[in-house]
Amino acid sequence: MTEEERPRCPHCGEPMLKWQPPAQNTWTEPYQYVCFNDECKYFVEGWEYMEQTRESKTSYRCRYNPRNKLCDPIPVWTKHDLKDGIIE
Ligand SMILES: [Zn+2]
Repeated sequence: MTEEERPRCPHCGEPMLKWQPPAQNTWTEPYQYVCFNDECKYFVEGWEYMEQTRESKTSYRCRYNPRNKLCDPIPVWTKHDLKDGIIE
C-alpha cells in the first residue's frame, strides 16, 4: 500500500488511515478508511452540529467505504475513540 493509493479525506485533504471495525460490527467490509485528523473541519464542526441539532456531546469522523467510494459519518464520543482499530 503506497501513499498514492490511500484515499484522502474530502473534507481536509489528509490521507485517511486504514481502520478495522470492532468484531461485532455489521459492515461487510473487512476494513475501511477513516480520517483521524483532529483538525479536520468535518470532525471539528461535528461537535457543534451535534450539540445544536441533537443536544448530544458527540461528533463524527469521515469514514470512507472502499466498496462504494462514499464517505459517511462514524460517531465518536471523544477524539480518542476508534483509534484502537487503526491497522497501519
Ligand atoms: Zn478529514
